[in-house]
Amino acid sequence: MSLDISHEITDTAGELAFAPPADRHSGAGTWGLGELTELERSAQLKLMREGQLGSVHSWELVTAVDGPGTRMTIFMNGCPLRCLYCHNPDTFNMKDGKPVLAADLIKKIKRMRKVFKATGGGITISGGEVLMQRPFAENILMSAKSLGIHTCIDTSGFLGAHASDEFLDNVDLVLLDVKSGSEKVYRELTGRALQPTIDFGDRLSALGKKIWIRFVLVPGYTDDPDNIEKVADIVCRWRNVVERVEVLPFHQMGTDKWESLGYDYKLKDVHPPSKGAAEAARDIFRARGLTVY
Ligand code: SF4
Repeated sequence: MSLDISHEITDTAGELAFAPPADRHSGAGTWGLGELTELERSAQLKLMREGQLGSVHSWELVTAVDGPGTRMTIFMNGCPLRCLYCHNPDTFNMKDGKPVLAADLIKKIKRMRKVFKATGGGITISGGEVLMQRPFAENILMSAKSLGIHTCIDTSGFLGAHASDEFLDNVDLVLLDVKSGSEKVYRELTGRALQPTIDFGDRLSALGKKIWIRFVLVPGYTDDPDNIEKVADIVCRWRNVVERVEVLPFHQMGTDKWESLGYDYKLKDVHPPSKGAAEAARDIFRARGLTVY
């Protein structure tokens, strides 16, 4: 099934300039660019379309998450999904990010080369949704590859049709979130359709691109064994490229952010799953011969 992304492109284009949002909370960031003239706005749009400028939330150095070794994970702003459990609701909108020049970010990445080499690490572009800003991500990934640095993207796959084969040539590993196996639950949880993720996984599998699957176990939403079986069925379509499945127990870490942004957080009363429930979920994947964490 092909993905109709025309509405996504329109949404994205409407958000491209970095004028700070009207509802910016004091202390939520000082890097808004203020009122932009038409000239400044169109100059920014041009730089973004060329991949020279991105809207970035933050970056951090992490070890043993977001891919192998020590990694610089870059969190982009802008996401077409609205996951009820999102830990980073401050990345929902592209306009809320910090304007960052690709050249500056590449310099920072270059300085980390020795650490990446010593630990078998690299960079991971996450979000928000990395594919909302494909030209910028492509520029960063291509530059990292040319420096011999391992590259990952962390994505829901919803905008997988935005990623050309050439884009994927610069990606060593895809961290693919399969948020539910049931279309109904997927939509309830994310506000979007599941099929684009399946289509993207099918493409990655055909291309021989390595995948790590992520599945968040949310009591009352994704933890029905039938739903987990459906996720496992989907993952097995990509058996030739899936290196591991990570079952991540839901937790309440994002609550404060939702409240401080004035968003309605619907999972207030949801408790993290028990260790037993998380292991039972992992067993469903293990039973298919998959490597599970
Ligand atoms: S895809 Fe990720 S960033 Fe986007 S809403 Fe879901 S959890 Fe948040």
